[in-house]
Order: sequence, then structure tokens, then C-alpha cells
Amino acid sequence: MEKIIQADRFIDGRGGPVAENIAVVVSGGRIKEVVPKERLNIPEGDAREIHEFPGATLLPGLIDCHTHTNMPANGRRGEDVIPDGDDIRLLRSAHNVRVALRSGVTTMCDNGAWNLTAFSLKEGIQEGLVEGPDLLACGRPITTTGGHCWFMGSEADGVDGVRMATRQLIKEGADFIKVMATGGSTLTSNPYRPAYTIDELRTIANETHRRDKVVAAHCRCTHGMSNVLESGFDIIIHGFFADEDGVRRFNPRVAEQIAKQGVWVNPTLHIGRSRIWQLWEKRDTEGLTEDEVDILARAEEGYRTGLNECGQLIESGVKLAAGSDCGWGVYPFGQFAHEIGAMVEAGLTPMEGILSGTRNCAEALRIIDRVGTVEAGKDADLLVVEGNPDEDITALTRVAAVFKAGRLVR
Ligand SMILES: [Zn+2]
Repeated sequence: MEKIIQADRFIDGRGGPVAENIAVVVSGGRIKEVVPKERLNIPEGDAREIHEFPGATLLPGLIDCHTHTNMPANGRRGEDVIPDGDDIRLLRSAHNVRVALRSGVTTMCDNGAWNLTAFSLKEGIQEGLVEGPDLLACGRPITTTGGHCWFMGSEADGVDGVRMATRQLIKEGADFIKVMATGGSTLTSNPYRPAYTIDELRTIANETHRRDKVVAAHCRCTHGMSNVLESGFDIIIHGFFADEDGVRRFNPRVAEQIAKQGVWVNPTLHIGRSRIWQLWEKRDTEGLTEDEVDILARAEEGYRTGLNECGQLIESGVKLAAGSDCGWGVYPFGQFAHEIGAMVEAGLTPMEGILSGTRNCAEALRIIDRVGTVEAGKDADLLVVEGNPDEDITALTRVAAVFKAGRLVR
């Protein structure tokens, strides 16, 4: 049965202003048409289902380009999750994707999971065993021996090694390839140094592009970013401007190069703030230990630095795609709107924030022909929120309804 969905305000995700009195007609899981309400021609006795949301705004379903569904978001580090086993990790993933969908995320990436769990999760969602967004999985991140997230199962070294790892992941069903181009929080890695040589990075990028897929790099330092820029990568994740001494210093030359090459950046801002919010709450209830006072001060400083760097990336004209990194740290699923809120705090307008978590991600992931905007012919992935997110971005947290391929999930 056809459905008509209408709210007071409408954002199509193509960048224009908020519209009013628009109806979206859905048929067979797709958007059939987007029309002014007065042009809706409903014959008498018509059996169409009508969903009306007074006071609300209708917009494209959100796209989170960065999550880790295996992770529990309770402060356990990657190493701590090694003993869990794939059964528990996969069950956790099934829980997390359902929470994400109900919060308005209708498409998302898994940017690194153990062994085959992300592929199994994707299959489970497609088969209807698990309720979740459309999933794009990298499977396992490609990393050096002992590199960031080595425990997920794709350590690879040398040009031949990384070529084989890339081909193996694509064989298993990877939708995109993720490479740990620098170390990270993994204890045996160094976030302030490149992990791979340019030869290795080029091999991965070329191999991925030969299969028409997108290649993304986790970069926690400036040198790592300049290496992946030289190697033809499509997306930079985190994009921290840190030097080898661990000090964050924004580098306008590298930022200009990112903008010039049209490489997407996925800043991960709220993951630091989620820790701050947790510690604020503890401070106000039971009080903080001396260690936690230090951790809080460092987290607050890190968040301010991140906002500042992101603001400078915006001024440099760099294209941003929103991705939460949720699951990691203490950032739970279902709160992607906070990442978009943080990007607005860094300098995007609320509308630009919305686009960063819808259309931009669809473009970066090359799925814009199917999702990312509300246009005839696309999947009917729709979000309805109370209020007007173009005036107050926190409206994205007040979800009134979520439609996945035209089906009301919440
Ligand atoms: Zn991540």
C-alpha cells in the first residue's frame, strides 16, 4: 500500500532551505514522489496510509560513516574485548544496530570488527534476522603486525602482504577497505607515527580502486595524513594534526592539500566529549578520584583542540562526512546526533551539519544514487524529528519516527 508521510517542515538533504507543506509519497520501499501537499490528489475511498507529524521536521535518514558494532561502549579497550569471543561480539553487534536504527540511522558503516562478524551481521540484517540499518562493512581493518586493532584479524606487512589482505577482504565481501595508516589506542601501536610505507599504502589504494571500492585511512597524526594523501586515499578518519612528539599543531599546508584533492575527512569529535559528559556526571554525584580529575582535564583540552582543528578544516574548504566511532570508548550506539551537534559547535551551520550526516556520507561512500537525500526513486529511508533541526541541531535527538525502506520502525 502506498504511504503518504508529511510533517510541518521538510529538508530534502540537497542543501536548499527548509520547505513547508511537503508530502512524501512512498511505494514499494521507494520514494515515489515529493510534492506540495495541495497537489496531492487523493481519490475518495483511497486506501493509502497517511502519517502526519504536526510540529515536526521530515528529513533523510541519517548515515553514520564510522561505527564499531562489536564494541560495548563501556570503557573497555580493544584489548579487553579479545577474550569475549565472536559469539558474544556478534550478539552485541545485533543489539547495537537495532539501537542505531531506532535513533534514525538508516545506513551505517562498520569500520572494524573481529574476524567475520561484520559480514555475518550484514547477512543477518539482509535476511531479516536482525533489525538494523543498511550496513557497509570493511570487515577487518588492514593493519601492520602489532598495529592498531591487530587483534581483529588482518595483520599484513609488505607490498605483497597488504595486496593479499586487500584481495582477501574483498573476496569475503568488504564494501570498502579501511587501513590503519598510523597507530591508535592499541597498546602495541604508536598513534604519532605512520604505520605503513607509501609503497604499501599505494598498493592497498590501487588494489581497492581496481575493484571500484572506497579506501579509508585511520590517521592519528599529520605525517600519516600526508602519506595517505600521497597514496590516493578517499577518506581520512579522525584526521588529527599531531606531530611525532604527540603535540597537536594544525598544519594549513596539509589541510589545503586535503581540500585540493577532494579527500573526505571524518572528524571524530563527540567520542572525547562522551567521556567528558560521563566524568561530569560522576563528579556531580559521587565525586572524582585524582586520576579522573587529570583524565577529565586532558579530555576537555583534547575536545577543545578537536573543535579548533575541525573549525580550521571547515575554513580550509575540506569536505566533512559525519561518523561517530561509537561502540569505542564510552560512546554508545543511538547517539549519532551528538557527533553532528559537535560538528556544528566546530563551525558548521545546522543545515551543513545535517548534510554532513546524510548526503555527504552518501557521496563519500558512493551510495548517493540510492540514499542520502529525499528524492523520487531513492530508498524511503526517512527520519522525523520534533522541532526544527535547522534552528536547533539538538532536535535530531528528539526522534518522532524512523522509516526504513518505507517501513515504520519507530
Ligand atoms: Zn574507529
